[in-house]
Amino acid sequence: MTTFKPMPEFALGPDIPESGFVVTDLGEGAYGVTQGMINTMFLETKKGVVLVDTPPVLGDVLLAAIESVTSKPLTHLIYSHSHADHTGAAHLLNRDGLQIIAHELTGQFIKEAHNDNRRPLPNVTFSGPHKELDIDGTRFVLDYTGDWHQAGNLFIHVPERKLLTAIDSFSVKNPPFFRLVFSAHVPAYFEAMNQMLEYDFETIVTGHMALYGTPEDVATNRDYINDLRKSAGEALGTVDLKEVATAAKVPADNKQAELKVWMDAVVARAAELMPSWDKRLGGTDVFLADNLNTVAWSLFLD
Ligand SMILES: [Zn+2]
Repeated sequence: MTTFKPMPEFALGPDIPESGFVVTDLGEGAYGVTQGMINTMFLETKKGVVLVDTPPVLGDVLLAAIESVTSKPLTHLIYSHSHADHTGAAHLLNRDGLQIIAHELTGQFIKEAHNDNRRPLPNVTFSGPHKELDIDGTRFVLDYTGDWHQAGNLFIHVPERKLLTAIDSFSVKNPPFFRLVFSAHVPAYFEAMNQMLEYDFETIVTGHMALYGTPEDVATNRDYINDLRKSAGEALGTVDLKEVATAAKVPADNKQAELKVWMDAVVARAAELMPSWDKRLGGTDVFLADNLNTVAWSLFLD
């Protein structure tokens, strides 16, 4: 069995009770909800509840989670992006009069997934980089600043409550999941950290694990990925393809194998160059090679 470093206490969220979920008061009528692996948020307005996303792992308990803190009806659902792990339980909601809001590109992705009836199409979409909505007295700012995760992905800012939601941007107190959280465009991912820090917020909801973050956590992730980039860049500059291929006895006619052993060697060298992050992040060993591979290819190609 593969062994991993033990998870430090600071990187763990609350224990999940038998109900299967934990609701966290994020202040001013905003709440986070998680089952440990995936999280999202909902917010009370004057008349109802606005929910961001419908993760299938929370599908059965989402309404119970909302009802545990308010009796107001669910009036609005915002899709942060189209990925099914965050939106695939929308079919479980009562959609009479429910407004489903998303970027136009998110609507297009859902349309393309035509075998999936779990994700009803949004009925309110916008194109372009910016949309402001007044939802029953609460101002929501929806920004599409680049495809840092997936085309159409949103920053959802609620300025009066100092709350930012950026689903699949990073994991609080943990390194990013596989390949920088499956980023569609790595340079945009790096830029997204700076963009997030321009918002006025105290709490950020990022979509995975059981913890919610602060601007400091965004800065931590930015510093961490900058270290990935620095290490990968140095490794790319020092690990020679021909040398590695010769040492590994790759047959001269197998160019694919040459490339593979070279990048594996780049990643291994970059991992050695990485400073220790164990005091600031938990599980630094788990996705290190995946993230270094992604950053190294991006440095090489982008
Ligand atoms: Zn996603």
